[in-house]
Amino acid sequence: MKKLLSVLKEKIFSKRYAFEKELRRAIKNNEFIFHYQPEIDLKTGQATGFEALMRWNHPTKGLIPPMEFIPMMEETKLINKMTPFLFEQSMKDLRAIHDAGYGDLFMSVNISVVQLQDKELVNTLKHYLKKYGIDTKYYECELTETSMMEDLPEDLAMLEKVNSLKIRLSLDDFGSGYASFNYLRQLDIQKMKIDREFTWSIPGSKENETIVSTMIKLGKDLNLAVLAEGIETKEQLDWLMARGCDLGQGFYFARPLPLNELFKWLEKNKQHKTGKAKSVKKTAKPSVSVKSKSSAKPTMASSQKVKSAAKKVAKGGVKQSTKLSAKGTAHKSTTKKK
Ligand code: C2E
Ligand code: MG
Ligand code: MG
Repeated sequence: MKKLLSVLKEKIFSKRYAFEKELRRAIKNNEFIFHYQPEIDLKTGQATGFEALMRWNHPTKGLIPPMEFIPMMEETKLINKMTPFLFEQSMKDLRAIHDAGYGDLFMSVNISVVQLQDKELVNTLKHYLKKYGIDTKYYECELTETSMMEDLPEDLAMLEKVNSLKIRLSLDDFGSGYASFNYLRQLDIQKMKIDREFTWSIPGSKENETIVSTMIKLGKDLNLAVLAEGIETKEQLDWLMARGCDLGQGFYFARPLPLNELFKWLEKNKQHKTGKAKSVKKTAKPSVSVKSKSSAKPTMASSQKVKSAAKKVAKGGVKQSTKLSAKGTAHKSTTKKK
């Protein structure tokens, strides 16, 4: 039995080692690409921006979805090697989208907790914003709730730095984890993305419907833009719209698309152009305003604490001004009381 276990362990270990080696080779050979999925203003049906979703373009296996390699990249910290590529490729493509006349669309990227621990993250971000002349109000970082572990005060410090660049922050997969309320309280989060599992549960049982409508209400009370992920049917869309959900993303509108197909989709969707031919401001500096914020250690909140924290925030712990863009997307400037 002992021998069998050790043989099994060895097998798992060597499989993992081979996979890690394969990932290192793929990074060296630039085998990763992005597909972009539109985020939709549910009232107008127009895109407000895109989410960049990574794929591994494997030479023999074809396109591999992120959940098959991102966890391993995070575990081995190889994901940090991807950060410059993530910023560079997404900003280069956003530049092309803006230059094609779609000047008010934003790009959103997924940042994992491991990347937040990389001291170079903010410098890398600043470097590419400058290189591609991207106004920070058109760039968003998505933080996955499940990746936000407790006891990571350094993450918060890094997020505060990202916040100070006036980069938009959104909470991804809202409802799937436990730490969100601390981040909602302490950071200038602008958008809540309701986890797709919740979208798939509606219309459905009374319980599921109550949970989703409460999430929408919470987001709206906190003056956040609320997006429902994973919309696949007209029924889901109608239900969400009837409850005031602002934004949506899902196969019902568009799958994640390579850049050339995204342009075709924009045409087909009759996406409004800003009308201005954008000049590339290669030297444009992102506006940086540093706000001193508490880097207090987030603690795992009990449900009671969470409720009172949310109440406090909703009751005026947050002073916000929300500007609506032409497309009704909230661009907020937020000041949170200490
Ligand atoms: P996510 O950020 O929550 O991204 C949304 C996922 O939902 C994407 O899966 C998207 O293809 C999928 N999706 C969107 N609409 C629908 C729908 O209507 N039905 C269904 N069944 N699925 C839908 P994808 O591309 O496989 O990405 C999975 C996760 O991998 C992402 O979840 C994100 O957490 C992670 N990920 C992707 N790219 C990156 C990246 O560049 N960096 C990091 N750190 N994580 C990434
Ligand atoms: Mg995401
Ligand atoms: Mg998500």
